[in-house]
Amino acid sequence: MDCIFCKIVKGDIPSNKVYEDDTVLAFHDIAPQMPVHVIVIPKTHIESAAEITAENSAVISHVFEVIAKIAKDLGLDNGFRVINNCGEDGGQTVKHIHFHILGGEKLGEKLVK
Ligand code: AMP
Ligand code: ZN
Repeated sequence: MDCIFCKIVKGDIPSNKVYEDDTVLAFHDIAPQMPVHVIVIPKTHIESAAEITAENSAVISHVFEVIAKIAKDLGLDNGFRVINNCGEDGGQTVKHIHFHILGGEKLGEKLVK
């Protein structure tokens, strides 16, 4: 499958890893939009948030445990934002579900531009 995040999971494409366990991987975004910009993914290929089901949601729950841990580890004590872009209208460019952790300075108050 031609999925860049699956290739990162396999190690075929390098990444700057922040966290890894059996089911979840996190790495620094290649084009950071904030001082801290980390991508968190399940290792299993789920295309988008629209594909979350009762069968695969446990790993998504675990993703959020990992997000809390990474935020602590990276010192985001004053807060941060988690973003998931889903599908064409949501602006999703990589079709492997992922969550952006954005922080390190105060974000804009608007939810979207
Ligand atoms: P989205 O627009 O929500 O699909 O976000 C995809 C994100 O993946 C963007 O912020 C990209 O900068 C990031 N990205 C794409 N390729 C890589 C890569 N090889 N390593 C790290 N981040 C990447
Ligand atoms: Zn994938």
